[in-house]
Amino acid sequence: MMDAAPVGILGGTFNPIHVAHLRLGLELGQTLGLGQVRFIPAGTPPHREAPRVEGRHRLEMVRLAIADNPLFEVDDREVRRAGPSYTFDTLTELRSDFGARPLCLLMGADAFSALTTWHRWEELFDLAHVVIVHRPGFPLGEMQAALPAALRKAYLQRLVQDAANLRIAAAGSVLIREVTALDVSATRIREMLGRGLSARYLVPDAVLGYIERNHLYKEPDAG
Ligand code: ATP
Repeated sequence: MMDAAPVGILGGTFNPIHVAHLRLGLELGQTLGLGQVRFIPAGTPPHREAPRVEGRHRLEMVRLAIADNPLFEVDDREVRRAGPSYTFDTLTELRSDFGARPLCLLMGADAFSALTTWHRWEELFDLAHVVIVHRPGFPLGEMQAALPAALRKAYLQRLVQDAANLRIAAAGSVLIREVTALDVSATRIREMLGRGLSARYLVPDAVLGYIERNHLYKEPDAG
């Protein structure tokens, strides 16, 4: 029953969205049998300096990037919400929207290693499964060894190998998955564009067109 397939959630600043985000969504969508992957751009991310490019632009770039993929959805709730974009609030809302359907929070190893800085991080596991993906430059072995004790404990208690666990319960498991390793980051894309270099093939053409039309990332570190 496809309606009950887990919902993948990919949050980020998407400043701008790039090919590694899209591959990550596609590959996990297929290999984990997700019913959809929701891209949720952060409005005001609490953990980092606010992106200089407004939420409405980052949202529109996500919209353009995913438009032709029926597996992908864009979710504008964090850009619309006033105040900091807490994943806890987003998952609470999604839990009420989706009832008992499994939710899977998808994130790179870099994001997971900083999880204890997130608002009410321990409760995130009650709201969703967490799927951690390999990211070039962030070796998982080192990530695991460096986790703060409370997070390492939660991680080890919840770690499962079999993706079937994502369907058995609505939340609570941690899974690690490899996706095609793409050493692409939005930071480097912003730097390239700021120096007048092309970001073609790193972001979809429709996103590039939007960046050009709206004169985004013109200055070095204009993100
Ligand atoms: P920035 O360079 O501005 O920090 P970013 O490229 O890391 O941006 P985000 O929007 O911060 O992109 O990332 C959203 C999510 O996608 C995070 O969970 C992050 O770990 C993951 N992600 C981003 N790039 C990659 C990549 N190349 N490989 C695997 N995961 C990635």
